[in-house]
Amino acid sequence: MFGWIKRLFKKIFHADHSDHSRPIESKPIPNKPKIALVRGHKRSAPGALNIHGVSEYDYYSEILPQVFERTENTREFLRDGTTIEGAIQDAVNWGADIIIEFHCDAYNGSVNGSSTWIYDESQRAIASDLLVDWLNFSGKSNRGVKKGGRATTSTRAMYRNGVQGCLFEPFFGDNANDYVPPQVLQIFLIDWINEKQSAKA
Ligand SMILES: [Zn+2]
Repeated sequence: MFGWIKRLFKKIFHADHSDHSRPIESKPIPNKPKIALVRGHKRSAPGALNIHGVSEYDYYSEILPQVFERTENTREFLRDGTTIEGAIQDAVNWGADIIIEFHCDAYNGSVNGSSTWIYDESQRAIASDLLVDWLNFSGKSNRGVKKGGRATTSTRAMYRNGVQGCLFEPFFGDNANDYVPPQVLQIFLIDWINEKQSAKA
């Protein structure tokens, strides 16, 4: 009599079960990882303005192309002409082992500190590695590895493609006491990437 209800429940249960049964396993990070640098935002919607009136997109235009030129196994990816997921997919198709998406935080001009963002716990190791190294380099205050939020779209796309990665917000661009000139962040990133490339197993 209630066979159709049973069938419906079975269908819902199985559909749900197959979606969530197994966490996605990311491929391990090799000795000389290919590191994709995804610039947050796009030319037509360039993100928050910093204390100098420079958008997140333009700020990183003074960093990421230079980092690419001075490191091996890196490439910059843009959202222009595509979506957030599209830029992540471009990085995956390139063969990225690590994907970092770059932003600057902004709030009310007086908040400070650094954070990285993840979607899944499996991303915590790389997010923590980047954040701790940045904190040691910069002396910034630690806002921690955060989960979900507005970073979800990109960090979920990294996770679903089985590639390690996180979103990075190294400072608050609207706070003069927290702002970091692009040349300084550039030096850190070049060192961080070169260290990753020379790491022993
Ligand atoms: Zn942003």
